[in-house]
Amino acid sequence: MRALRLRPQSAMAIYAHPDDADVAAGGVLAQWASDGCAVHLVVVCDGSKGSHAPQADPTSLKEVRSAELQLAADLLGATTVTSLERCDGGVANDEDLRATLVGLIRQYRPEVVVGPDPTATFFGGVYVNHRDHRETGWALLDAVAPAAAMPLYFPTKGEAHQVGQLLLSGTHEPDVVADVTATIDTKVKAVLAHASQLAGDADAIRDVVYGRAEQAGRPVGVAFGEAFRSVELAF
Ligand SMILES: [Zn+2]
Repeated sequence: MRALRLRPQSAMAIYAHPDDADVAAGGVLAQWASDGCAVHLVVVCDGSKGSHAPQADPTSLKEVRSAELQLAADLLGATTVTSLERCDGGVANDEDLRATLVGLIRQYRPEVVVGPDPTATFFGGVYVNHRDHRETGWALLDAVAPAAAMPLYFPTKGEAHQVGQLLLSGTHEPDVVADVTATIDTKVKAVLAHASQLAGDADAIRDVVYGRAEQAGRPVGVAFGEAFRSVELAF
């Protein structure tokens, strides 16, 4: 495990659901944004199935979650937010999603792309990684390496762009830790912005976010961290 020293000028976070980026990488994204990096947030799903209540209305849930996403993105200091509004549970790593992601990568030209590690399926014998997370992860990998970088892939989607580095969250093979000590409170606020998704009061959520960040930071000696699997792409 090593400390992440990356200080990009442009970054893109691609996640499935409106709250995923904040939970997985809110600290490092807020840090980069406060350092002047352009942070582009891409959310694939509309959040319309994100409730355990049988009487929940998908249309109003979608509207609530869209507003929560904008609030959280503002807290992080994101430069742009793009919602692809795929129905929750309906993400597929198909040609259409890859074309859309390639178009966004070529438009915003990020040095680094952050997103879910699609290879992680089971966590601790108690959690199965959501299909939308896995499909989004595979689609972003395919969009970055190699499609966006090669002009004959999706030639109508802009000028080819090589992303320099991938940082994958929710991984079983983390090898870098970002120091998020300066932005952990911002991360907590961004997570709390997704009020429709919170089980428990704000203090309990804060404790969970702090606890996970403390654990992630320990191997590299920082108070609070976020761990990722890093892939540095040769070009
Ligand atoms: Zn999610």
